[in-house]
Amino acid sequence: MPFQPNHPIPYGRQHITDSDIQVVTQTLQSDFLTQGPKVGEFEEKFAAYIGARYAVAVSNGTAALHLCTLALGVQPGHRVITTPITFAASANCVRYCGGEVHFADIDPATALIDLKKVRALLAAHPKGYFHGLIPVDFAGLPVNLEAARQLADEFGLWIIEDACHAPGGFFTDSQGLEQRCGNGQLADLAIFSFHPVKHIATGEGGMVTTNNPELYEKLLTLRTHGITKDPARMHRHDGGWYMEMQTLGYNYRIPDMLCALGINQLGRADAGLARRRELAARYNQAFANVPAIRCLATAPGHAYHLYIIQVEDRKGLYDFLRTKQIFAQVHYIPVHTMPYYQELGWNEGDFPLAEQYYAHCLSIPMFPTLTDEEQQYVIACIREFVA
Ligand SMILES: *Cc1c(COP(=O)(O)O)cnc(C)c1O
Repeated sequence: MPFQPNHPIPYGRQHITDSDIQVVTQTLQSDFLTQGPKVGEFEEKFAAYIGARYAVAVSNGTAALHLCTLALGVQPGHRVITTPITFAASANCVRYCGGEVHFADIDPATALIDLKKVRALLAAHPKGYFHGLIPVDFAGLPVNLEAARQLADEFGLWIIEDACHAPGGFFTDSQGLEQRCGNGQLADLAIFSFHPVKHIATGEGGMVTTNNPELYEKLLTLRTHGITKDPARMHRHDGGWYMEMQTLGYNYRIPDMLCALGINQLGRADAGLARRRELAARYNQAFANVPAIRCLATAPGHAYHLYIIQVEDRKGLYDFLRTKQIFAQVHYIPVHTMPYYQELGWNEGDFPLAEQYYAHCLSIPMFPTLTDEEQQYVIACIREFVA
């Protein structure tokens, strides 16, 4: 009898081991539930893994993005460019600070922001008109940040790399060097999320990485209410209890239990990434000779947060897979078509390539604990539908 799943197969899923549970339990029994030693340890190990100088652990990826726009001083009148094919938070972080979101259409081969379109947009306005760029390593495929940096330098922009999909991913620069996503060499700041479907899962959680010491100091203060306890930075010192709130910050802290979980998961990150790449290679091979299925471009440094196919009848395939216990998903509904952004003046038709991509895309199961048998079943069901 052919394989039948005895449980639904989602498009993405966390992997929690006994040792994950153990480290969380140990932290629950320790002196610190928050602001303890696990936070710094997670930051240090994450920074080392990514290859960045500094890392700041926060409550979620959206908080990470908000801290970045705050640290960069985004304010009303500032204009920032991002991609329409991303999670809304990549754009929303600009709005939190009162800035204006602008979009550049995607390259249909990769579904990444098309830097040629970004250049055209920048060149159509006087220098200084735009302030920043938020490229997204969509699905785990790293943006060419060397090219993005050149553009940014030419037009005076900062860069926040939204690397939520790509911890461990890299692209190869013109010197032949592997530039790891979030390593701080090219972007001013980079952000990650530890939502359950992401590579490293803490439930809620996020990280900012940077090589810039001034931005790093700002992030630390803004994460904790704008309060500093550093005597060197205080205006006066009344005693051991004394601290100063110097700027309007937030409580974007992450608890120690979640950092303990993150540290443990980080230890398996490379194994998870290797498995994702193995699954992707199998999908690529399985669909290579099926003209009805289009796959996005691949690359050696692809981190495969998602595996996306494009088919003519996407809704048909989505519904068919559900009857087979396979819960595919769509990434993403273009941000500019969301009612909130339409109220700000964006319209359907503004970014036709993103809209075309959205009409046909489907994210199929991609997570390290997906078994070979389950993957074969997924492939067989998709082939059956398009046949
Ligand atoms: C998950 C995600 C975020 C937001 O992260 P949260 O931790 O859910 O707040 C931002 N950008 C992208 C591209 C994401 O995938």
